Amino acid sequence: MSSNIDIAIIGGGSAGMSLAANLAKLSPPPNTRVFEPATREARACHWSLWANEQQATSLRAAVKGRWQRWQLMDTKRRVVHNGGPLSYVSLSSKDYLSHCADQLNDAVQVVPVGVDTVIPCAEGQRLQAGEHAYLATHVFDSRPPKVDSNGLLQHFFGYEIRTRAPVTDAGIVTLMDFRVDQSRGLHFIYVLPFSRHHLLVESTMISKTHEPEHWYTTAIEKWLDARGISVSEQLAQEVGSIPMCAVSAQDPALASIGAAGGALRRSSGYAFSYIQRQTTELAARIHAGHYDVPAPISKQIIFMDDLFNRVLIEYPELASNVFMDMASSLTGEQFARFMSGQASVLDWARVVWAMPKRPFLKELLRV
Ligand SMILES: Cc1cc2nc3c(=O)[nH]c(=O)nc-3n(C[C@H](O)[C@H](O)[C@H](O)COP(=O)(O)OP(=O)(O)OC[C@H]3O[C@@H](n4cnc5c(N)ncnc54)[C@H](O)[C@@H]3O)c2cc1C
Repeated sequence: MSSNIDIAIIGGGSAGMSLAANLAKLSPPPNTRVFEPATREARACHWSLWANEQQATSLRAAVKGRWQRWQLMDTKRRVVHNGGPLSYVSLSSKDYLSHCADQLNDAVQVVPVGVDTVIPCAEGQRLQAGEHAYLATHVFDSRPPKVDSNGLLQHFFGYEIRTRAPVTDAGIVTLMDFRVDQSRGLHFIYVLPFSRHHLLVESTMISKTHEPEHWYTTAIEKWLDARGISVSEQLAQEVGSIPMCAVSAQDPALASIGAAGGALRRSSGYAFSYIQRQTTELAARIHAGHYDVPAPISKQIIFMDDLFNRVLIEYPELASNVFMDMASSLTGEQFARFMSGQASVLDWARVVWAMPKRPFLKELLRV
């Protein structure tokens, strides 16, 4: 026995649940099942993005922190941005997924089981999920993509902590503090101060190889020590590895969404806002009877991001400078637009002008 459905969404993470919530709003909603084997707790992390007032309000059920200012620093410089109308917003992934689940209805439901196989058939695709089979007219696959073993990665380990004493400035996010050991690749500390006593501190590397856990934890401890921050309680850990290179879908025959579907920005590892755009537009297309997945990141941006990453790989000694120069060349609002894939031509011109010319030209000629 199998159940007939209009749409199967494989994976109930950021993309799968965002698409499901959008489909549930359609009138009538398509008969949809989201297959997700893991609990929200098991996948809990923070998803951050730059958002305007309207976006931040629409996400308020999941907002854990929101800041107007952010900074990047190395041993020589400190760049502080004020985002103007755009703020840096950090979401609890668990609350975001619950918020999406709250919007589902009888037609759009989550099945708490993983998909084992997907086989094409006359009616569409036949999915086996545990004991049960489903016949779906359309399938959207959001399973994490396959990553080339030689690809550039952003990998990190962090702690969410309570501090004994209040930190001096909880009003500013540290996006990148490069004043840490750079001997194994580009390395920085990322800090979200949720309050004066509550921080997320991550040691992040941009390189091709993961490091042993003590590499990241030692960096965090040294960074905290140097600032006289002592930990009263460790609340949670956050670990991740995000591809900054071309990826391939688990099943190239299926339509992919999310990180596997071209929504991951290769130069930064940010995906949340691109996933929002992709899934909102896809739901509108489905309503109009079209099922092709929109590409949320343009070919031009992908080209520039790849060029940027090639410079990071070939000229590791310049890497932190490249980020600092990029940040220095833009105002907070321009930077936020740039990171969200909404840079104007002028924003791009400013960034390109700020880059070290010879390495970029050399890598450009190699394309
Ligand atoms: C720890 C971490 C922090 C991040 N922080 C940010 C951030 O701050 N800002 C930002 O923009 N981006 C961030 N990213 C990048 C990106 O936004 C996330 O990776 C995001 O979760 C990608 O969404 P997705 O839906 O494509 O994949 P996921 O959210 O990973 O969802 C894929 C789902 O597929 C499920 N799955 C796997 N196998 C099967 C199967 N056989 N059947 C059914 N389901 C299956 C998994 O359990 C998972 O829930 C972060 C990534 C990580 C790992």
